[in-house]
Amino acid sequence: TTRSDIRGVVRREPEAGPAPVPRVKLVLLGDSGVGKSCLVLRYVRGQFDPNSKVTVGAAFMSHSVHLPDGTTVKFEIWDTAGQERYASLAPLYYRGASAAAVVYDITSKESFQKAKHWVSELQKNASGDIVIILVGNKTDLVELREVTPEDGQEYASRNDMLFIETSAKTAANVSEIFETVAKKLSGYQAPPAE
Ligand code: GDP
Repeated sequence: TTRSDIRGVVRREPEAGPAPVPRVKLVLLGDSGVGKSCLVLRYVRGQFDPNSKVTVGAAFMSHSVHLPDGTTVKFEIWDTAGQERYASLAPLYYRGASAAAVVYDITSKESFQKAKHWVSELQKNASGDIVIILVGNKTDLVELREVTPEDGQEYASRNDMLFIETSAKTAANVSEIFETVAKKLSGYQAPPAE
């Protein structure tokens, strides 16, 4: 009897209904003012409110992504609640995180530099196999752009991160942040073109 036979017998369980939906902790990082809260509110509630600093009642918000291959990924999206002002976050914030979105503001070179600080914070505090997406937000502010898409893409590629540019204001690419991460986490492969 081979090992795999034994494992197969021991591991086999009676029909247990649909597989449980994996819960994925995704932490938001980035300088204060880059639009982290606005991105989450745009994604979870479909709203953009430039004036209200919304108090999130819970520590995180949940939202599911349904991929075309039938996979569902349920995100727990953690916002910093302003704690990033202290330059580092409590270890609890990172604990158990499978994914992170590091956000900067494309109209602020400084926020792009700070994104690099947050990437190194992640490398210190999170587990090694975390999926990271670099997010350049506020693409609607075309005239004020200071960071090119090429700058963002180049930094992301060099550090093995995904990359996307978004606008929480116009909703451009916001749900794609989470879809892109869900695809990476689940090993999704696009069906071959017809
Ligand atoms: P946080 O501190 O990173 O959570 O940033 P907020 O979500 O509080 O946003 C900071 C400011 O940027 C607010 O005044 C928002 O209205 C503004 N903001 C956020 N996202 C966008 C965007 O995509 N476009 C524009 N024009 N403003 C944005």
